[in-house]
Amino acid sequence: MPDKIHLLPDHIANQIAAGEVIQRPASAVKELLENAVDAGATQIDLIIQDAGKQLVQVIDNGSGMSVSDARMAFERHATSKITNIDDLFKIRTMGFRGEALASIAAVAQVELKTKRAEDNSGTLIEIENSVVQRQEPSAIPDGTSIAMKNLFFNVPARRNFLKSNAAEMRHIIDEFMRVSLAYPDRSFTLTANGQKQFHLDSGSLKQRIIQLLGNNYQTKLVSVSQKTDYLNIYGFIGKPETAKKTRGDQYLFVNNRFIKSAYLHHAISHSFQELIPGESHPSYVLFIELDPAQIDINVHPTKQEIKFEDEKIIYAFVQAAAKHALAQFNITPALDFELDAGIQQLGAITQPFSDQQKAAASASTIYKSFTEKHAAHKIDPDKRNDAGGWESFYEAAIAANKPGSFQSLLTGVIENTEPSSASSKKLTQLFNTFILAEGVRSVRVIHQQYAHETILCHRYRKQIISGTAVSQQSLFPLTLQLSPQDTELITELLPDLEKLGYSIESFGKDSFIVRGTPADMSESEITSSIELLLEQVKHYRSDLPIDQREKLIRALAKQQCIKTGQPLTEDEMIILVTELFQCDEPFHTPGGKPTCYDLSADEMMSRFGK
Ligand code: ADP
Ligand code: MG
Repeated sequence: MPDKIHLLPDHIANQIAAGEVIQRPASAVKELLENAVDAGATQIDLIIQDAGKQLVQVIDNGSGMSVSDARMAFERHATSKITNIDDLFKIRTMGFRGEALASIAAVAQVELKTKRAEDNSGTLIEIENSVVQRQEPSAIPDGTSIAMKNLFFNVPARRNFLKSNAAEMRHIIDEFMRVSLAYPDRSFTLTANGQKQFHLDSGSLKQRIIQLLGNNYQTKLVSVSQKTDYLNIYGFIGKPETAKKTRGDQYLFVNNRFIKSAYLHHAISHSFQELIPGESHPSYVLFIELDPAQIDINVHPTKQEIKFEDEKIIYAFVQAAAKHALAQFNITPALDFELDAGIQQLGAITQPFSDQQKAAASASTIYKSFTEKHAAHKIDPDKRNDAGGWESFYEAAIAANKPGSFQSLLTGVIENTEPSSASSKKLTQLFNTFILAEGVRSVRVIHQQYAHETILCHRYRKQIISGTAVSQQSLFPLTLQLSPQDTELITELLPDLEKLGYSIESFGKDSFIVRGTPADMSESEITSSIELLLEQVKHYRSDLPIDQREKLIRALAKQQCIKTGQPLTEDEMIILVTELFQCDEPFHTPGGKPTCYDLSADEMMSRFGK
């Protein structure tokens, strides 16, 4: 037998490695914007064609590169930002892994133009599939322009994974907002398909927030500013009235790097506890600054997750800072936060934070109260059971459930959709949650919420195809104002929303007029139901093999279905059960939750030892 192990050719190894860093056009946007920031640029222009599938270009007025650096920049692990492993713990730049340009060059066609102020002429390099096609001197302004064209032209399988233009554009705007929020002292523009979407002049953080998140924040931001020797926290939190059903306006940065942390989000949300309704999310743009030695940003290729040396202390500080800011706001609501020096003077927080004190803090009760019990990921086992012990029994029973073995039970009901001609089989509601139906030698237990969710999905799918939904026209059309991301999303969903009975029109940049909805709803219900709908669509896992339309259908069904806790009349139960068993797949919700299970007389008997 011949040996079978061989080395992969460079360009294939590069393509594989690129998959970690460049997943979609927005990943390139992030890397290129960060490079421009690292190069000290004060003017950064992002140009997009075809949601980045055709072109992502970043032009900056930063340091530029020498002729040989320009060539080196595309090598894997080529970086000017670290030289040894210790440097990893002193990082102040956004990049350091030296992988972004190599990755981009492996999966696209790249044109780099760069010039340092001290050089007479600049350099132009064209590179494709990791191979340099052209390199020559070029007369260009100081700074750097990198254009990435035809992403994944050489990896068709990955190109096919890209989402619709609206979806990809949403990701791009997300990345643009994250970088530009972190650097309000620099100017940014975003031009997509020839249209300028953002023009952000350099200014204060507050100005930047308002430019990006909307004018309505003008009077609704509370400043946060806490300084200690260990870490600084600054930024703004939205007053409670800016809390939304949708998550979206939540930005947390660590040493200017946008990060996702459910744990720290929990810290902030928790400080709003009594001020906003349970299912709402507070808005915030917060920056944590600490010694880079205290964090490990190298745990994730795109650096969106980081590890803190001591996460619990950060949790306690973030929460304390948010609480203090809110307290201040409650006592003196009219306070001008720009002048709000008081917050910065808070005793415990302003004191130097030595190792000794850190040790003391971790022994203190405040620290302890942030351990286990309050950790975001910890769910109190006895809180999970709202249904008074039923759920666990129910779940155990489901495991033993054999759907399909149940045909005759509901025949009396299924054939008569008219409630008035209901069968003699009596349906019983239990705990305002379950419907019991007696069969020949078994009893069927139906979960009213999951049953109705399943029915609605089935109905909406039909309506979208046939366009038969009725819309309740509002007397007073309502104007909706949405974030740039939600604007992209709703635009994409509009045709389907129309077929589901929503009558919504685009009205200027990020405004929409709602003229009708599927059911009679009050103004505030309409706004929150649309916000919630967009939120749910966004939060379906992106790896779910379902399209945007199915996400919309499922989200709407979840929102509109009868919930547990609602008492049902006999007629309502009959309609519910009848319709359920007319669905194509009655035994599971589209998300895979069981709608019912059967308990046979024999099983019951066995409980009595027979
Ligand atoms: P990293 O940012 O992790 O160092 P990259 O692959 O993103 O790796 O970039 C490689 C190198 O190319 C950087 O370290 C930097 O020296 C140089 N570089 C990249 N983009 C720019 C730019 N816009 N201006 C100046 N230099 C740049
Ligand atoms: Mg970089």
